[in-house]
Amino acid sequence: MSFSDFHGNNEVIRRLREMLSRDRFPHGVILAGPQGAGKYTLALMLARTMNCLGTRQSRGGTTGQSEEGYIGADGLPDFCGICDNCRRIGESQDLDARFAEAVEAREGLRETDKRETRLMVQTHPDVLVIPPDPPQMMIKVDQVRHVNAAIRYKPAAARKRVFVFSDAAFMKEAANALLKSLEEPPEYGVIFLLTRNPGELLPTVRSRCAGFTLDALPVDEIESYLIRARPDGTVEQRRLAARLSGGALGRALSIDLEQYVAARKDALVLLRSAVIGNDHSDLFRVTETYRGGVEGKEKTDKLLAAIYSLLRDAMALISGTPELVRNTDIAAELKSMAGAVDFNWLAQAARQVGQVQSGMRRNLLRPLSLDAFSLGLDKIG
Ligand SMILES: [Zn+2]
Repeated sequence: MSFSDFHGNNEVIRRLREMLSRDRFPHGVILAGPQGAGKYTLALMLARTMNCLGTRQSRGGTTGQSEEGYIGADGLPDFCGICDNCRRIGESQDLDARFAEAVEAREGLRETDKRETRLMVQTHPDVLVIPPDPPQMMIKVDQVRHVNAAIRYKPAAARKRVFVFSDAAFMKEAANALLKSLEEPPEYGVIFLLTRNPGELLPTVRSRCAGFTLDALPVDEIESYLIRARPDGTVEQRRLAARLSGGALGRALSIDLEQYVAARKDALVLLRSAVIGNDHSDLFRVTETYRGGVEGKEKTDKLLAAIYSLLRDAMALISGTPELVRNTDIAAELKSMAGAVDFNWLAQAARQVGQVQSGMRRNLLRPLSLDAFSLGLDKIG
């Protein structure tokens, strides 16, 4: 594994690696981009490059100083992927699994210890991943205080001490606490802030970091990547995954199409029932299968996401931009739906999806709020 495994955004990657080669890497880095764009993958690749023990080639400068470092085939700093540092940092790559382990470990503690235990993922002594803390899914001030203390220690087994905030949603107090480390970082300290929307970070945090954005990739680029990564899928499946990904490779790879198509089938029943609006027996048959609890919530979330994606497609058709349609495999069905509604109806429907979502947060009975969504839409059309 190396940087050649990172897909797209070549210019940003090159700039970051060049800064490493000149030993001018910033202490605070904001990596922005949509979910699944590769922000976390990139941060861990950079962390490995900073600390790779591979010795294929040394970074010798004209000054005669010989610095440790691994150089890739393209002449820029890279990582070997197999040395002890690379391997251990790489173990953090499956963030969902590491996160679940960390949460579970904390759940096993006594109540008093639980409150004091900050959620962290650490597979290497010098590289710390700080995920948002549930249930609020925000970075809390105690997590940042831990970073502020840890960054004072020199690296034990690496050259740089790296901190990765995997989703930079900070509680206000936490963001303020972070300023301390961003203002006076030790020479070996690097802090990554990953975010979908850098505008949500405090201006004082942003001004102390260098910002880089990973852009969405073109649909055909993702499709041709999927041909190599998912050779078992059909052309239709790859096209759908590429379009649903919104230009984010990670999302294209992780989309469970079977699950999506099932949710979309239900979404179509709900919308059809709302559009036609006389016989609701199909609607009730569907909504009955949506229950409460964690599992029910997941299923309902997927349904609502599918409704959104159908509404967007109908909107694209109505506004004369059919090239933006994502659910290309059900074009005929979409066309007939778009023909039966207007822009206002779609806007209202999108708002009502939002209401169902906030209703779910208040723990209303799910099937009921779904019925209300579809029945409520009748009256608009
Ligand atoms: Zn290595």
